[in-house]
Amino acid sequence: MTDNIKNLETMSLPDKDGRFGQYGGSYVPEQLQAVLDEITQSYEAIKDDPVFLKELADLNKHFTGRPSPVFHCKNLSGKIGGADIYLKREDLNHTGAHKINHCLGEALLAKRMGKTKLIAETGAGQHGVALATAATLVGLACDIYMGEVDIKKEYPNVVRMKILGAKVVPVGRGTKTLKDAVDAAFEAYLEDPVNQLYAIGSVVGPHPFPGMVRDFQKVVGIEAREQFLEMTGKLPDNVVACVGGGSNAMGIFSGFLTDPEVAIYGVEPSGRGLKPGDHAATLTLGKPGVLHGFSSYLLQDDAGEPLPVYSIASGLDYPGVGPQHSLLKDLGRVSYVTASDDEAIQAFFELSRTDGIIPAIESAHAVAYAVKLAKEAGEGKTVLVNLSGRGDKDIDFVIENCGKDYGI
Ligand SMILES: *Cc1c(COP(=O)(O)O)cnc(C)c1O
Repeated sequence: MTDNIKNLETMSLPDKDGRFGQYGGSYVPEQLQAVLDEITQSYEAIKDDPVFLKELADLNKHFTGRPSPVFHCKNLSGKIGGADIYLKREDLNHTGAHKINHCLGEALLAKRMGKTKLIAETGAGQHGVALATAATLVGLACDIYMGEVDIKKEYPNVVRMKILGAKVVPVGRGTKTLKDAVDAAFEAYLEDPVNQLYAIGSVVGPHPFPGMVRDFQKVVGIEAREQFLEMTGKLPDNVVACVGGGSNAMGIFSGFLTDPEVAIYGVEPSGRGLKPGDHAATLTLGKPGVLHGFSSYLLQDDAGEPLPVYSIASGLDYPGVGPQHSLLKDLGRVSYVTASDDEAIQAFFELSRTDGIIPAIESAHAVAYAVKLAKEAGEGKTVLVNLSGRGDKDIDFVIENCGKDYGI
């Protein structure tokens, strides 16, 4: 483990080909590669530019409300009777989750590149809403591609995007869900890569997106490390985050990867069981392959086709995962574990009723594992959880499906 941490200290990730060890890279048609190269060059040119960084830092502070606080959950910790649980409150950001961190970065980059429009796909609508918000603020048009099935299911987010001035483009082909929306958005992108920028919603996709989105999310880990040290005089013994594509996790993990005394846990959704189609535990049960233009652990069949995935948290059901997570798994630096639908729901109510914080059902997966870990670790130890978002978006669904079990 200590050797692997030394490796991480000397590795600058990704390398110039966008590789995190054997993972990452860029597996796309030639025409798209030219477009990606332009994004890489532009990002390389500005990522250390003090003017760009100041502009982003100002928006983070005055628009998003950064730094988000770190909160000591005394009630939950007391009830468990084990380690002390702390939350990094990304749920308190404007728009209610961590996604605004990278959407603002991508919007500013697009503006710098002279683009006039941001485009993206969205599944549950969370990425669409965050991107529509950033686009409006920065002064760019925004087209969000969304499957017709998802448009019906996620109506409040569709309305939010429209109020924010974005165009929601319905996708009626195939299964009319996320995968078809990705295909439609990529086709639209290739029709006009000069004026548009495709803004990916996590640390996934071809180079430069996994490294770039990670860089925009790093602020979470940098703040959390400083805040935790200031509050307790020590680093946390454990850091925990949920993993869908892996952006909120990479954000907080980045602050602690080279601290050997900090154990790090990524929590994947085991859904309703470990059979294919019942979960989205990519690192726990998948194997390396190529999907959506990058190499990583994937849930795939023998022919290399992505398997169906499921989680009660729509932000976590993706058959791939960011390539840096795959490397961190192989190095043994991060332990990838799981929480089920039922465990997440239980944690959703537990945190709501002990400390008055309703977590996003995605984030509740991290809370569920943190509770387990706190019991095992015992008194005197600490667990820092990235609370990636707030649960307002989930309350209708939770009450309809599980309200009775909790007296509602
Ligand atoms: C989208 C989302 C996630 C999952 O995305 P990652 O890239 O894995 O962080 C987690 N939590 C919330 C609140 C989300 O909206």
